[in-house]
Amino acid sequence: MLPFKLIYSNGYYLPIGAHVFPAEKYRLVHDRLLASGVAEATDFLEPEPATDQDILLVHTPEYVNKLRTGTLSPREEMELEVPYSQDLVAAFWLAAGGSILAARQALTDRVSINVGGGFHHAFPDHGEGFCMIHDVAVGIRRMQRDGRIRTAMTVDCDVHHGNGTAAIFAGTRTRSEPLPSACTSPLSQARSKETKMRGTHAGDVFTISLHQHNNYPAVKPPSSIDVDLPDGVGDDDYLAWLDNALSSGLRQFEPDLLCYIAGADPYREDQLGGLSLTIEGLKRRDELVFRIARARDIPVMVTFAGGYARNVEDTVTIHSNTVAAAKEVFVRGFSS
Ligand SMILES: [Zn+2]
Repeated sequence: MLPFKLIYSNGYYLPIGAHVFPAEKYRLVHDRLLASGVAEATDFLEPEPATDQDILLVHTPEYVNKLRTGTLSPREEMELEVPYSQDLVAAFWLAAGGSILAARQALTDRVSINVGGGFHHAFPDHGEGFCMIHDVAVGIRRMQRDGRIRTAMTVDCDVHHGNGTAAIFAGTRTRSEPLPSACTSPLSQARSKETKMRGTHAGDVFTISLHQHNNYPAVKPPSSIDVDLPDGVGDDDYLAWLDNALSSGLRQFEPDLLCYIAGADPYREDQLGGLSLTIEGLKRRDELVFRIARARDIPVMVTFAGGYARNVEDTVTIHSNTVAAAKEVFVRGFSS
């Protein structure tokens, strides 16, 4: 049995028909974790859907009303890039409930993984890029409302910029210490001229996004730290930049909860990504985040976000490896 909980429901399936988003991946990851022996049935907790009150901690009443009554405009539905239905609304409310539960469990068990969620392109007043509701933001705001945390940090490793996250938590932004202009790793020095790291200090939630610069979304509202990676970045450079961004963020900010958005789409075989990470490199990425969180005793909740590998089995492997990495770091200990 794992010393932490995995949050999952068959209701995570997104009823969107034939789509580049592999809506069945959640069930496939669940099944793979059981078949491979990484997890047992008792390691999983089934979430309740978030309440409308929870959703309204992040989203506007107008937007929530449109979703509840099926009155999005054709343009709003187009921006969402998934076909609207009441069943889809239910799936997103459930994903948000899953992230609330994962956040709560992380505060008890030091880590928890929502086998779903990570819908980081949702804004308070609209959805886009397959994301209707920002489940991670809902989880953070609910923990704050319950008095369980004061501050949080999002670490977004999806290949796409966390535009919704940045917009939601823009809050009271002030300038702070300048960030290092180049990564310290010698492996990265060749790339460091192309990679840009931009930073400003945030309010009660500090946002970090590592993403491919030349990719959706075209407009990238500023996160607390943005690492704009050039096309084709591979494992070693990526890991050096992640280490650098995390170190810099944790020098500036002490979060009560770390929300790791573990997108599978920096993978080199991804259909919607242009970075070149390997499956092994992505697992090292997960281990790095978990090792740092554990070493600093920061509870970490995980969501899966995107993953569009040509072969869906690769996406399932990458997400399953995130659970395996958590198991290795939090069960078997770590060295560093
Ligand atoms: Zn993505």
